[in-house]
Amino acid sequence: PEKSEKLTSLLNVLHDEFLLSDETVDRIVADFHEEMRQGLAKHDSMGKKTGPLAMIPSYVTSRPNGKETGSYLALDLGGTNLRVCQITLNGDSTFSITQQKFTIPAEAKEATLFDWIAQSVELFLDEHNLATDDASNPIPCGFTFSFPIDQTGIAKGKLIMWNKGFAVPNAVDRDIVSLTQSAFSRRFLNVKIVAIINDTIGSLMASAYSHSNSQMGIIFGTGTNACYWEKTKNITKWTKEEIERFPEEMIINMEWGAFDNKLAVLPFTPYDNKLNRKSHNHGLQVFEKMISGMYLGEVIRNVLLWLVDRRVLFGGRSSEVLNEGYSLDTSYVSIAVADETPQLSEIKNLIEGTLNIPDTTLTDRIVFKYACNLVGARAKRLSGAAMCAVLLWRPELLEKDVTVGIDGSMFQFYPGFADSLMEEAKRILGPERASRVKLILAKDGSGFGAAIVAMTASKKL
Ligand code: ADP
Repeated sequence: PEKSEKLTSLLNVLHDEFLLSDETVDRIVADFHEEMRQGLAKHDSMGKKTGPLAMIPSYVTSRPNGKETGSYLALDLGGTNLRVCQITLNGDSTFSITQQKFTIPAEAKEATLFDWIAQSVELFLDEHNLATDDASNPIPCGFTFSFPIDQTGIAKGKLIMWNKGFAVPNAVDRDIVSLTQSAFSRRFLNVKIVAIINDTIGSLMASAYSHSNSQMGIIFGTGTNACYWEKTKNITKWTKEEIERFPEEMIINMEWGAFDNKLAVLPFTPYDNKLNRKSHNHGLQVFEKMISGMYLGEVIRNVLLWLVDRRVLFGGRSSEVLNEGYSLDTSYVSIAVADETPQLSEIKNLIEGTLNIPDTTLTDRIVFKYACNLVGARAKRLSGAAMCAVLLWRPELLEKDVTVGIDGSMFQFYPGFADSLMEEAKRILGPERASRVKLILAKDGSGFGAAIVAMTASKKL
């Protein structure tokens, strides 16, 4: 009984640390608006520990209507794979896709990336009989490039920095489209990159092809980020002449994973601090570190070890696996949260089989699930708050139905994620406005969205 009292009081401490009050959530929404305002007014906050949201103009200014037709090539370069796709728009809000996935070899990440991309595209074109010799009629291609770039046009952007283990020399500060296009020329590939976008824009455009009222794209995957349609005149970091060169609306890539890097409002706990200090990007992407798939399991691992150290979990014993950083993958968290069996047997398999901790008690498993739910619930609420902040930014849009296109494993697989976003929407936006918000899974948005942007961009060429 003494032991269970100790456990209860420690769980209460955790509960209070991870609890998000309505007041805090409301302050987060207000601070989001302040950072959005500042980011639209100021250049150069990408990768900074103190600046506001980067709010990067995407140069994407056309909305698809689902009636477009044609075939386009799309490249999607993520952290581990390159996907090459040929996408045919059918004109009735549907599309067909042929795609091939190439795992990026280490030497490409460190040296030969652009030639390796060209080689992969050549293999794809040969295999699917798509190569053409008509130099006056190159295949239009959209490129989803998920690294930070300083964009100056729809097909122009200089690399700001590499991340995710990439280190190709002579690329930082250079135009990514020219580097890729030159590699295509060296292989005489008849492909022209007409647009470069990131994955959030892909989700928004993919969603827009079937839902013309799509206003926002979000990724809840390895990392998290979002984009939305902004009035071009609100991009106050631009001169009047720059603003006038473009149509009335443009998609803004928010880079919201960096929200509140200065930690003015996010309730960072010691478990978050531990993760942040040990990470390769200490002090950066702090919002992302509280919610995305790459980090969620690691925060929970820190919580579990704190309980083990206080001898109220697993009899005070950890394992080599659990001691290893990032060993608790977020997919395990989804399994634990979904386990409704009376003896929590899924969790038993996970802890005893995967984490290699023998002989768990039912109490151990209940505590494990409790920790997962606590950190997971915070992630879901923060995600909902961020989404609502953006929807509220343009309240006039909420007078009609709006669609949000979302992709990523957290949204797709974490139990109750979409419901939780909607619950937060009801509280923050009010039930009436929330009832007009529709969330859709923009699956394969990165490739499909790039093809749509390629379509709209090549129409203008
Ligand atoms: P990416 O964002 O890299 O395009 P995903 O959307 O698939 O890819 O996200 C991968 C991330 O999602 C990884 O960090 C992984 O740990 C996490 N993840 C994978 N499966 C699940 C799941 N079932 N539930 C929650 N998170 C998951």
